Amino acid sequence: MSSSRRPKRLALLGATGSVGGQVGDLVLRHPDRFALHSLIGGHDANALKLVAQAHPEAHVLLAEPAGGDRSAAASAVERVLTDPEVDLVVVAVSGSAALPPTLAALRAGKDIALATKEVLVMAGDLVREEMRRHGSQIFPIDSEHSAIWQCLWGERREAVRRLILTGSGGPFLRRPLSTLSGVTVAEALAHPRWKMGPKITVDSATMMNKGLEILEAHVLFDVAYQDIDVLVHPQSVVHSMVQFTDGSIKAQLGVPDMHLPIAVALSYPERVPDVVPAPDLGAIGQLTFEALDEQRFPAVALARAAGERGGSAPAVLNAANEQAVALFLEGRIGFTDIVALVRRALAEAPAAGSMSLDSLLSADRWARARVLELAGEGSQRTSSKVRT
Ligand code: MG
Repeated sequence: MSSSRRPKRLALLGATGSVGGQVGDLVLRHPDRFALHSLIGGHDANALKLVAQAHPEAHVLLAEPAGGDRSAAASAVERVLTDPEVDLVVVAVSGSAALPPTLAALRAGKDIALATKEVLVMAGDLVREEMRRHGSQIFPIDSEHSAIWQCLWGERREAVRRLILTGSGGPFLRRPLSTLSGVTVAEALAHPRWKMGPKITVDSATMMNKGLEILEAHVLFDVAYQDIDVLVHPQSVVHSMVQFTDGSIKAQLGVPDMHLPIAVALSYPERVPDVVPAPDLGAIGQLTFEALDEQRFPAVALARAAGERGGSAPAVLNAANEQAVALFLEGRIGFTDIVALVRRALAEAPAAGSMSLDSLLSADRWARARVLELAGEGSQRTSSKVRT
């Protein structure tokens, strides 16, 4: 690498999270390539202070300061993300909170390394419109989409036949179907391959994560829903594939470690040396694949249907799922109630008109409130049953 070029300056939204920490690792390991322009945390000032100690050069701010003025904080975040000094914005906060700052950065023409799939799931059309208008790009950090993106480098769009998203199947791939309703929080949080935050780990157990990834892939790569497949691959070595019109399939392989897709997104179009060891295929011996069991994992078809319905349905799917997962993690609903509640919220969701940011955020709020109501009704029924 030439030393004459200055490092890429990153604004990091979600500095205290799991992906944020790995971005920090890569910056410290490769000061010739990357520098942190800013570190933005959520509400945890102490956690942010700890992260900031390793990066004294970075601007530091909280997006949700305790007792602070929320809208002033939001403007401060947008000012930092859109600073002319910033070469790449890294968005790695979970949930719909990432949407307004991401749109602001796209409007400022910034390229974004995006870990937050909710942004694309909720507001795919809006995001695509802003990218087109301002010439900004999104580099996916989600491992499956990073894989597809890498398979597409140097290929022509019209040569793409299908996208094949792989998923490990999570901890309940072999568990008897009749026992799924009794899954505990601890069991759902024990993912066999990836170490991630609790929300996405539960999404992996229901495979709603793969459903959300279908919507994400549709937005990122402009491929029709019926041409995006899911294949179960328990070893999590093949991170996803692209099938081309001539019958070729390209796959990207790697050890299941998020440092790799993060490094790909940060350094594009270059590659960072020695991010992780390559998988030892001789030692692994076998890579296996199996078709998705739709009965075991109904979340995948539900998500695909929400994508095909369009409008605010993906935002409802996403918000209803976030709320239902939170209720499950609090021990207030059962594991199979998660997808059941999302299905009911989607069935009842009003058809929305224009897809402005406001209408998407209001669909998001409606879905959360509706899931809380439905869960409350459910628990009342349960307790009255217990009494009789
Ligand atoms: Mg993923």
